[in-house]
Amino acid sequence: MYFEDFSKYLCAYSDFKDADFAIFGIPYDATTSYKPGARFGPDEIRKSSWGLETFSPVLKKDLIDANVCDLYNIIIEGSQMDIIKRVYNASKNIIKRKKIPVVMGGEHSITYPIVKAVKDIYNDFILIQFDAHCDLREEYMSNKYSHASVIRRCFDLTKDIYQFGIRSGDKEEWEFGWENNNICMDLPTKEDIKEIESLDKPIYITIDIDVLDPAYAPGTGTPEPCGFSTKELMNSLYLFKELKDNIVGFDVVEVSPPYDVGNITSIAAAKIIRELILMIM
Ligand code: MN
Ligand code: MN
Repeated sequence: MYFEDFSKYLCAYSDFKDADFAIFGIPYDATTSYKPGARFGPDEIRKSSWGLETFSPVLKKDLIDANVCDLYNIIIEGSQMDIIKRVYNASKNIIKRKKIPVVMGGEHSITYPIVKAVKDIYNDFILIQFDAHCDLREEYMSNKYSHASVIRRCFDLTKDIYQFGIRSGDKEEWEFGWENNNICMDLPTKEDIKEIESLDKPIYITIDIDVLDPAYAPGTGTPEPCGFSTKELMNSLYLFKELKDNIVGFDVVEVSPPYDVGNITSIAAAKIIRELILMIM
């Protein structure tokens, strides 16, 4: 062996057929309302992942013992509907083989087709969102599939939605969230986890990196002050350890390298992905 391949996520060297986890990127940011750049997220997260160790001292597990493949990036070509269909088909192919899709955004709108695939395979499921924003607008800039509408679209697929870390949205979004969803300005508590556990359904987790405070994630399109530290977020993700067998997929979105400082944001995203894979494996 003479050569290394840094074009994949850290240690993601399995073939698709042997993999338990299938990573792919969606370099898409066309509906971004403020600062575009999330299209560069997947490749930057991959690069940053190689700065991490493969071993997690918290979970006492090593990525070299996980079967992970990296399918590289979805082709971004055609209309938004074409891309939605492509993401849906790719996700469905992974999920129906009982593999865990690990998706790197791209902007948050890309979560909808993945969740649609979860819906079509599992029917009943829970959506967990970490985000600074409600993302509950019926439409944004005349687009129902905008990143600002993604959780509202997911509400058409499941009524079991838990939103954590939310601190921004218009009045209508908050009223919708308070009435229909479990919307929370804080990170999950042990009580929240117990409640989610009691539903006993498949779980999909979507993490918008802007749930972190801009100090911990400057590289994102719509930074929102008064957020959480990377450690606080990580500790709240570890709470899902009890539910690991229910988790059927997750994504990390809205990493925007052009606004990043010293790769802080892409390294945080890479570490979140490593820890979640190790927690679920
Ligand atoms: Mn979002
Ligand atoms: Mn957000």
